[in-house]
Parts: sequence; C-alpha cells; structure tokens
Amino acid sequence: MMKITRKYEYRVEVYPRSLGDFVMARMSDYVIEPDEEKRNLHYKKMCEEIASKIKQRIGNVASANVICDCEHLCSYCGHKWDEDENGLPLCCDEAQEEFKNAIHT
Ligand SMILES: [Zn+2]
Repeated sequence: MMKITRKYEYRVEVYPRSLGDFVMARMSDYVIEPDEEKRNLHYKKMCEEIASKIKQRIGNVASANVICDCEHLCSYCGHKWDEDENGLPLCCDEAQEEFKNAIHT
C-alpha cells in the first residue's frame, strides 16, 4: 500500500517576533529573560495581542486563537515523561518512589 498525504484545513500560522529581536540587532531570548516560565508567559501575551489585532483588522478571519505545543516532564529530574503500561514512570527513582507510594495509600 502506498502512503498518500491528504492536505486539509488550511490556516495561517503566525509566530511572534523573538524577545531578543530588535530588528537592527539580535540577542538570545535567554539574555533578555533568563527565566523560561516568564519567557513563555511573555510570548503567550504577545500571541494574544496578535490574535486580537488579527480579529479586529483583517477580513476573512473566522477565528484567531493562541495555541502552543506542550510536553510532559518529570518534576524530579526534568526529563520527558515516559511510563510503562502500568503507569510506572521510567525516568528516575524519585518518580518511581512517588508512584509506588501513591498506589499503596
Ligand atoms: Zn524523573
């Protein structure tokens, strides 16, 4: 069987300008805001402003929504979350310990 690709639900994807992009010069986002959570909140706010302006000023727009990628991480070791078929975390002893304690309580 040959794989086919069906293209559908065309839409516009808009990225905000990076924090360190001053048009004439560029710096790392990390230099502007070292805290990742604050950096992400800043981007979220910029995206909400852009979506709001798109809705107000551009025709042929049914909706403009802010979306993001997300991933699950372990709060103990910071690695990407992975678990076996029983839900046991695979990344570190601390996560496994908490899982085992949660089951036995
Ligand atoms: Zn872990």
